[in-house]
Amino acid sequence: MTNKEELRDEIPSYAFIALARRGMEKISLDQCFLKNCDNESPELLEPFKKEEYEDDKKQTKEIHIKCKKCNGVFILKLVTLKRVAKSTKENSEEPLSMGMVYALDENKKNLGHIGYF
Ligand SMILES: [Zn+2]
Repeated sequence: MTNKEELRDEIPSYAFIALARRGMEKISLDQCFLKNCDNESPELLEPFKKEEYEDDKKQTKEIHIKCKKCNGVFILKLVTLKRVAKSTKENSEEPLSMGMVYALDENKKNLGHIGYF
């Protein structure tokens, strides 16, 4: 059984959003991503469950988080692409180490791509 602090450690502190012509903006993932909720207090966010799965291309972690301000539940979905195996044909391929983070609602409906971590 994973405890809450361990779950919290699985969540990156920040995500990065690419802005057109203005570089990257850093945003905190310590916030509620549900509509009409402005909770940005980590004390009011309680991660309680993790799902993890992977295929040959990517590793996916879904952290379920309860917001104590709006009493909603949302999921931070962290997708890490696996490094492309070196092949002689495609040695120009850049290793991709960035992960992508999405917010999902309780029913796993995608609320949007948040950014990169
Ligand atoms: Zn909330």
